[in-house]
Amino acid sequence: MDSQTLRTYEAPSAALAGRVILVTGAGDGIGKAISLALAGHGATVVLLGKTLRKLEKVNDEIVAAGGPVPALVHLNLETALAPEYDALVSSLQTEYGRLDGLLHNAAILGTLAPVELYDVPTFGRVMHVNVTAAFALTHVCLPLLKASEDASIVFTTSSVGRKGRAYWGAYAASKFAVEGLAQVLADELSTDGRVRVNCLNPGATRTAMRSQAFPGENRERLPLPETIVAPYLFLLGPAARGVTGGSFDCQEPAKPA
Ligand code: NDP
Repeated sequence: MDSQTLRTYEAPSAALAGRVILVTGAGDGIGKAISLALAGHGATVVLLGKTLRKLEKVNDEIVAAGGPVPALVHLNLETALAPEYDALVSSLQTEYGRLDGLLHNAAILGTLAPVELYDVPTFGRVMHVNVTAAFALTHVCLPLLKASEDASIVFTTSSVGRKGRAYWGAYAASKFAVEGLAQVLADELSTDGRVRVNCLNPGATRTAMRSQAFPGENRERLPLPETIVAPYLFLLGPAARGVTGGSFDCQEPAKPA
């Protein structure tokens, strides 16, 4: 399986019908676009995010478009503790009895600075939101995922999570950690075959995080989040059954200047 196959995938209109898929950071940027696309292809999306009004807006867009009614989970991954994770799992269990997909999309950039000057609390915050919270959520959701016939976990990575680059500090370290966690989990779950685990790098995309990282660049040259949904629909849907332990780089080929 190569990244080109994922990028050019054309999902049938009801490809995700009947699936229950949780998306973190669903209120904005890539997470919002993926949530709308998943619902547009029939999935019931569990919208998890930090800002309730953003989740409500995505909810309203999905309902207005005639998609399955989503569930909203207002949760701050930086501060959430065990009781909040337990409450989430218990409500998913009651409502759906299973989970068919878990997309770890929420992340923060932190700051761009040399390691020598990098603020230690910021490092901890980035690692917590980008890695520890993804671990904690996966940990509590695994029984629900195992209750599905065909479950998919997708971790969002980045090119700096494969090759470190100066000044990317905690963000790069967190994405390396995410890749490692995904490999461990894919290996642990490989014998059963019901839960697959992959990493996906969406590549440069026109979002708030990208603007924070590259304030001087021309945003107009970057793809909009809604144009990069195909690899997510592929990995979270039935077409990717049996695909596990992969790390896919879905960066759009560069356009000429
Ligand atoms: P955005 O900053 O646009 O969106 C991030 C989302 O994560 C927001 O919905 C945000 O919620 C949510 N979030 C942040 N902190 C928390 C928290 N503590 N608790 C719950 N939710 C939180 O980022 P992108 O859409 O650009 O990034 C999405 C993913 O793609 C990330 O994993 C990123 O690392 C990755 N990526 C992005 C690239 C790009 O060019 N954009 C390139 C490569 C990888 P709220 O808005 O409420 O704060």
